[in-house]
Amino acid sequence: MTSVNFRESAALALVVGFSTLLAACTSPQDSGSPVKTVTVTTTAASSSTTAAPRSSADSGCRAPVVALDPGHNGQSISVFDKITGVEMRDYPNGAEDADVFAVATTAKRALERAGYTVVLLKKNTSESVTYRQRVDRAERAEADIGISIHTSPGEHSVFDQRLGGYREGTGADGQTLRVTFKNADLARKSGRLSSKFATARSQVEGRQVNVVQNNFGGRAPLWAGDLPMISLISQKVPWVYSEFGTVDGGGGSNPIGPTGRSLYARSIVAATKAAVPNTCE
Ligand SMILES: [Zn+2]
Repeated sequence: MTSVNFRESAALALVVGFSTLLAACTSPQDSGSPVKTVTVTTTAASSSTTAAPRSSADSGCRAPVVALDPGHNGQSISVFDKITGVEMRDYPNGAEDADVFAVATTAKRALERAGYTVVLLKKNTSESVTYRQRVDRAERAEADIGISIHTSPGEHSVFDQRLGGYREGTGADGQTLRVTFKNADLARKSGRLSSKFATARSQVEGRQVNVVQNNFGGRAPLWAGDLPMISLISQKVPWVYSEFGTVDGGGGSNPIGPTGRSLYARSIVAATKAAVPNTCE
């Protein structure tokens, strides 16, 4: 086993270990071909999210910084991440694109009124921005939480950055690659935030919203596994990935309508306040 050290910034050292296993151990359908595994860890876990407050001039209190990620990409893209090697494949998804952008914009305004600093990780519905670029934007803002906002029919749940979560697929070199989330500190933070987030969503939406594990199996050409790509590659900012569907089947490419947008925005705002309370005011 060899290891390669990447130093992306002073606060982050990604240790990427490559090893070769038999595919049969992890991927029965690819019998015989070698699987390259990559684990993603950090030796200075999320220091930027808790360090060096950017104080407001008056009180010296730093309000939470929230990175809102409004769903899918403006066009179909497939780019390999230079740091982890994962394939960042994304695509427009019909009504979801405008729905989640409207929800994110409404939530941003409400949170700003409550004193939060909010960055949108996508400038408009048609902007093309990879998962890595979104994570970079969240890190530059020194976000305390990243929130991906999605809709899906019949789905009302939250995905956290689970330790051991992974994605596996064909890398840029044609070999099967498995990338695993190994950042225990960030997984704990994401789990804590996701739990508070889901509880607050349950109260606003009047239904049980649970923190669950995703499953990307059977969704080729998306890589198999159980973590959203953006959650997998974010190694400084704790991530919460939110899915919402209306009772009448709205979500994903089906519009959630004005009532759905309003409810989801209120839910996101309340959930964000519960997860990262603003103690400055
Ligand atoms: Zn989506």
